[in-house]
Amino acid sequence: MYTLINGKEISAALRLSIRDEAASLPRRPGLAVVLVGDDPASQIYVRNKKRACEEVGIYSEVYTLPADTPRASLLGLIAQLNESPAVDGILVQLPLPKPLNPEEVILAIDPTKDVDAFHPVNVGRVMLGRYDFLPCTPAGVMELLRYSGIDPAGKECVVVGRSNIVGKPQAMLLLHADATVTICHSKTVGLPAITRRADILVSAVGRAGFITADMVKEGAVVIDVGMNRDENGRLVGDVAFDEVAPKTSFITPVPGGVGPMTITMLLKNTVTAARRRMSV
Ligand code: NDP
Repeated sequence: MYTLINGKEISAALRLSIRDEAASLPRRPGLAVVLVGDDPASQIYVRNKKRACEEVGIYSEVYTLPADTPRASLLGLIAQLNESPAVDGILVQLPLPKPLNPEEVILAIDPTKDVDAFHPVNVGRVMLGRYDFLPCTPAGVMELLRYSGIDPAGKECVVVGRSNIVGKPQAMLLLHADATVTICHSKTVGLPAITRRADILVSAVGRAGFITADMVKEGAVVIDVGMNRDENGRLVGDVAFDEVAPKTSFITPVPGGVGPMTITMLLKNTVTAARRRMSV
């Protein structure tokens, strides 16, 4: 019988301690969220982030800019937020409408306020294992493992997906936790034989039903980062849950697994940034 890793419950517990930490600081931590354009999914994410901030006592500012915002205006806003004493964290919601260049925009954020940990300075710090902020989704996965009593040390871990925001940093965090890590991607040959070796399998591909039972070792821990829509418009992960779950020891559902943890880790990073800036 497998154990369902309940991301909602773990997230709620973490948010209580984040709220206590925020309340213990000399002033409220502040997060600025910048949304450019009218992508409906991004609008929902931004709304959820604002609500989550309110729940844990983080002050938030949301800047909604039109899709045709000139590059100079966006960079000007970021420069202003970099200087703002009330703002400890800055998040620019991705994707940005064209022709805005996300790399240039991320580079403009003060790395000490980069609570998404996308700035190259923070990416490098994660690589070195000397960081203030961890990228939110992979950090959320590590918390799910920790709360579930799963220690990656010495385990064979396979991460499917090598994006800069999920797959690569996920592999690095598992490596820092002393796992033996394999990263797979669309050019990997013989994927099922590799995933079947995994004690801990993390899928971050973005394809519904991609991980099937024949790709999973008996007793494995399966973490499903994927967020996809099935043919009925329902939110589903990468894992064919019904056939895979009975083979696992632990598995995350979608929704209610990794998803809730991502915003929670953003809140945690914001409080960390505030604490650093207040030197407490
Ligand atoms: P990307 O599209 O940037 O990366 C997908 C990765 O999957 C790529 O590395 C790609 O390989 C790999 N891939 C694609 N097809 C295959 C295949 N047939 N076999 C093996 N590997 C394959 O996506 P993200 O990393 O941004 O996101 C991945 C998923 O996680 C998405 O569903 C996204 O919605 C979800 N997500 C969920 C979050 C959450 O909070 N739960 C947060 C962020 C993302 P290649 O590099 O070779 O193209």
